[in-house]
Amino acid sequence: MMDHIDKFNSELTEAPFISCCVCEINFEATGVKYIVEKSFKRVSENVQYSIYEYAICWDCAQKFQEKISPESNEAIQTYFFDQLRNRPPRFFEEDENPLHVSLSECMVKGTKTADLTEYTMCGVFRDGQFSMDALPYVLSSAVLGEIAEKLSASTKDEMDDFRETYLGGPPELEELFKGRPVVFL
Ligand SMILES: [Zn+2]
Repeated sequence: MMDHIDKFNSELTEAPFISCCVCEINFEATGVKYIVEKSFKRVSENVQYSIYEYAICWDCAQKFQEKISPESNEAIQTYFFDQLRNRPPRFFEEDENPLHVSLSECMVKGTKTADLTEYTMCGVFRDGQFSMDALPYVLSSAVLGEIAEKLSASTKDEMDDFRETYLGGPPELEELFKGRPVVFL
């Protein structure tokens, strides 16, 4: 069975990400904290296409966040706060792996990942392992759409710029995610 950490390997190289897409710092050599995001479009139960993927170091993610307007940053935080506040706390059974649970459903809506046609997943890493302070998570395209509605035009432009500059996926797929938030904020 596929290890949970292997799900965050690059689809292109089939190996773990080794460097930041922005500053190219090497993760293994420096031991810095970093974030991996991978987005998928599912076409059938067992077939899904990678839409985009990247790894970004913690410092570059912070710098990007500083470029986003305070209003948009606040809107994102308020969205998650409001959405998660009313969800009953999730208790893990003894035989349940929290990593498995967190990757098998949308963090906000609870929809099973297997039932999502478009989704993104995000994890925080250090030294090739999940960072102990953050569980990876899945967000459905419904959630990304709801967040996007709350962002200013200038924030969406910053996010589109980021994708165009660093991710360079096929244009027809990029189009799918235009105006959608990048989720490492
Ligand atoms: Zn970087």
